[in-house]
Amino acid sequence: MTLEQIDKTYVLHTYARDYTNFTRGEGATLFDENGNDYIDFAAGIAVNSVGHNHPKLVEAICKQAQNILHISNLQVIEPQAKLAKKMVELSGYDMAVFFGNSGAEANEGAIKIARKYGETKFANKRYKVITLEHSFHGRTITTVKATGQHDFHASHFAPYPEGFSFEPNLTAVYDAIDDETVAVMIELVQGEGGVQPFDKAEIQKLATFLKTKEILLIVDEVQTGIYRTGEFLACNLYEIEPDIITLAKGLGGGVPIGAVMTKHKDIFVAGDHGSTFGGNYLSTAASLATLEILEAYYESGAVAEALLYFETKLQEIATQYEALFDKEVGLGLMRGLRAKSVEIQKKVISESMKERLIVLKAGRNTVRFLPSITITKAEMDEGFKRLNVALKKIEEKV
Ligand SMILES: *Cc1c(COP(=O)(O)O)cnc(C)c1O
Repeated sequence: MTLEQIDKTYVLHTYARDYTNFTRGEGATLFDENGNDYIDFAAGIAVNSVGHNHPKLVEAICKQAQNILHISNLQVIEPQAKLAKKMVELSGYDMAVFFGNSGAEANEGAIKIARKYGETKFANKRYKVITLEHSFHGRTITTVKATGQHDFHASHFAPYPEGFSFEPNLTAVYDAIDDETVAVMIELVQGEGGVQPFDKAEIQKLATFLKTKEILLIVDEVQTGIYRTGEFLACNLYEIEPDIITLAKGLGGGVPIGAVMTKHKDIFVAGDHGSTFGGNYLSTAASLATLEILEAYYESGAVAEALLYFETKLQEIATQYEALFDKEVGLGLMRGLRAKSVEIQKKVISESMKERLIVLKAGRNTVRFLPSITITKAEMDEGFKRLNVALKKIEEKV
């Protein structure tokens, strides 16, 4: 059997898969089984924040594996405690952290904190969570319901939990709030929804309003977090202080880890929440190394340089290929090109792959770029060179 046949026979069919077999990576370059190089502008959907095979991350993982991979959360876990401290310090917020294994699980934790806050703080239990259209919050039955896209609420999986509704925009959120609303959950840049950043002033206004109403602001930073927008958190860039922040994707540099941070440190008591794997030695040692690499990179000014360079290059593409794209969107190293049609979007992704460049889709018609935070200028140049070749071919046929 070929690898494709094995995969199709034994793995459930939940993805529209490409069958290039990657066997090795180095920085923002991947190599397939025949040794062909691909420029990686996707970073495993914003996960490989320090690129592939970063020596410091590899060393941290190997060293940890030689000592302890896992014990339970019934014992203290040194790298977990140190990672929580590091995350809180980098965020600048007075918060504490719970560790899980994924973005959806982090959001589940956030919703549980909000629900318990709603019960303990108010005479009538507040429990409703308002989200936004085009949002994405995960694939568990609750987070899929929190996701503000009807397409995700297929009847096959019904019934869904109660207490979730989504609004078309920030203005509509104010009207949707009632005396049972406990939280508003948003992404500051909608990733899966089309790489759409919200206006800073509007976000700050909403954050202030929610504070006066004692309604929690949950910011889903699963994609925007870990320097993706140029700061450690997008919340830092937007200069807001939310009640709850969720993280995952880039946090472990490729090792599965999710986290929920909150300033409501006393809502959970022992037994309220937990996870077998969450925050174990392996994932937190990897994450600690990832954050140390990125912190130094940020302090050196390299993050700011990389995102400016990437944005400039992408804007050039948007101007050069006006027949294909309406505009360039996004923030930091979370960027997109809004294609003129779904057909063009699909063509850009497939033709880029033929030129050995990995890009992603987002929303209905956006081509998405999520390179590693540590991507070099040479890698960006090579990637954009390949993108140009792909786009020239498509343009000739439009
Ligand atoms: C990817 C993503 C999630 C889900 O994360 P998983 O690790 O796949 O569960 C949730 N929210 C946002 C904003 C995401 O981008």
